[in-house]
Amino acid sequence: MRYVSTRGAAPTLDFRGATLAGLASDGGLYLPDTWPTLSRAAIAGLAGLSYAETAARVMAPFVGDSLAEGELLALCETAYGRFSHAAVTPLVQLDHDQWLLELFHGPTLAFKDVALQLLGLLFERFLTGTDQRLTIIGATSGDTGSAAIDAVAGREGIDIFMLHPEGRVSDVQRRQMTTVLSPNVHNIAIRGDFDTAQGIVKAMFNDADFSTRFQLSAVNSINWARLMAQVVYYFYAAVRLGGPDRAIAFSVPTGNFGDVFAGHVAARMGLPIAKLIVATNVNDIIARALATGDYARRAVEQTPTPSMDIQVSSNFERLLFDLGARDGHAIAAQMHGFEGSGAMRLTNAQREGAAALFASDRVDRDDMTIAMRWAHDQAGQVIDPHTGIALAAARRADLDAPIVTLATAHSAKFGDTVERATGMRPALPRRVGDLFDREERCDTVDATFAAVSDYVAARASPRG
Ligand SMILES: *Cc1c(COP(=O)(O)O)cnc(C)c1O
Repeated sequence: MRYVSTRGAAPTLDFRGATLAGLASDGGLYLPDTWPTLSRAAIAGLAGLSYAETAARVMAPFVGDSLAEGELLALCETAYGRFSHAAVTPLVQLDHDQWLLELFHGPTLAFKDVALQLLGLLFERFLTGTDQRLTIIGATSGDTGSAAIDAVAGREGIDIFMLHPEGRVSDVQRRQMTTVLSPNVHNIAIRGDFDTAQGIVKAMFNDADFSTRFQLSAVNSINWARLMAQVVYYFYAAVRLGGPDRAIAFSVPTGNFGDVFAGHVAARMGLPIAKLIVATNVNDIIARALATGDYARRAVEQTPTPSMDIQVSSNFERLLFDLGARDGHAIAAQMHGFEGSGAMRLTNAQREGAAALFASDRVDRDDMTIAMRWAHDQAGQVIDPHTGIALAAARRADLDAPIVTLATAHSAKFGDTVERATGMRPALPRRVGDLFDREERCDTVDATFAAVSDYVAARASPRG
């Protein structure tokens, strides 16, 4: 299996190369050069398998010979053995055709654990036996940081530097990062806001001197291996609800378009999917693009669903490439136009391709609250606000299929909003319950490129 860039000008890589690289050198994102398919019989054959076994079957064609036989399954068993539910991603029934797929049973209570727990192990495996050292740098406004830190804490050959805006993440989110005391974990509170932190990270990736000395890597959803790991739960859920003989719909709370793109991959691989509902909050660039063909950036509005407060969804580029005859030069031109003016038009092929599989819905705060209250009062389920956005969209979708709403965070991560909607305050699960008694470690640094790059350079290992 070879991986190609969406912008057509970067070298093709194998799975190992694409995993370690993150962004392609031409500014594009890596994708497999063709989609592997699973026959109906192969999909039906997943029905009795554990989550880890399902994961190994679904991901094997993407991994190719980058791992020896048996190694992929062993890594999946380790990664998903750390989840607190034996089913890893259990399904919960809400009414006769509405279901929740709970993706938050990992160590940091967010769906990002599903992909990052595996990614941490893949990084370590691909570095073992080489003298390469990886320096992961990221900025977080909350969930990604803790999931990434948990995934690589104590792993050989890797250092992680995670920037967060001082005083602007919740106490739970901060403590989930700062109480991880492994020597390879470096938490940096920036005297500035999230955008400034992200700008500093970008500048470090673009700094020739810095990226020569250190092998920098990213853990956000530009990394192909993360998306690959998310394809698995579409298969896992569908075969439990009658797939492949029956087409299933999914409603996905969408920010960076990574999670719902994984659904598109599952469909490309042959899983019968009735519809993928792209549910956004009022930051609705994707919903507008799918409805009108105009992909146009607006100012970001703060909402109770911070992981969806996004106006540029980096993974949308992967969809446009896949629906646009995989013409890298055309995508490069389209994306450069967007980067310059903040707007572009989808081609007819892109619009028609998207309409065949995707529906989109923009959900405001009131409708989110109503969905959270309905889940609590009518189905006995306490859901987080991101899940509430997707459930609101699922409940008003007019589809003749079972609808699975992806539940992306544990309700206790967003206790204030949950309490306002339902009148009850969710407790943190027992396994993270002593979070407030643990020691914290974090340095506070000025929000400048010089201060942060000096801090990292003094602590990171050269690329080797
Ligand atoms: C990251 C995140 C999302 C958005 O997922 P994308 O892959 O960026 O579309 C939704 N909900 C929660 C809780 C998240 O952490």
